[in-house]
Amino acid sequence: MEVNVEGCMAQEHASLKRNQGAARNQLEKLMRNYISKYYKFSLQCEDVGCAYQTRKMPLLFSSGGPVCPACRNSNLQLEYSEAQLYTQLAYFQNIFDFSKAENNLSKEEKGSLQAGKEEKELYDRMKISTDKILSKSAYGIVNLSTLFEGLFQQDSSSF
Ligand SMILES: [Zn+2]
Repeated sequence: MEVNVEGCMAQEHASLKRNQGAARNQLEKLMRNYISKYYKFSLQCEDVGCAYQTRKMPLLFSSGGPVCPACRNSNLQLEYSEAQLYTQLAYFQNIFDFSKAENNLSKEEKGSLQAGKEEKELYDRMKISTDKILSKSAYGIVNLSTLFEGLFQQDSSSF
């Protein structure tokens, strides 16, 4: 059993090594898809029965947030929230963090770890891709400025 698992892992490493350019592209594409999903700012009714979807912010608000114009009974929420995006991107960053994974191993596991310098470099390069995308997107900052854009414009014109 153990031999099989190790054989599988060796095979996976070998194919990852051969296709590392393609693997990196695939990872970056996947992460960008999540980012654009977030930037659609699609709103969805909390009520699963209603499930109204829109990209337009309604004018009516309650204490719970924007009121759904379809059922007028529930609030709209972002279909894909900033927190969800962050969790997703951080997950990608995490799975390729070789040093972090290595630090979480017990002494015994570290002893039987067979990854060499080459494997470590491979993971590092994948992680660099995730770092790059995370820092480039800076979605938190962009989101806040777009969210308050209208308000600031109104404020300055009333002075
Ligand atoms: Zn609704």
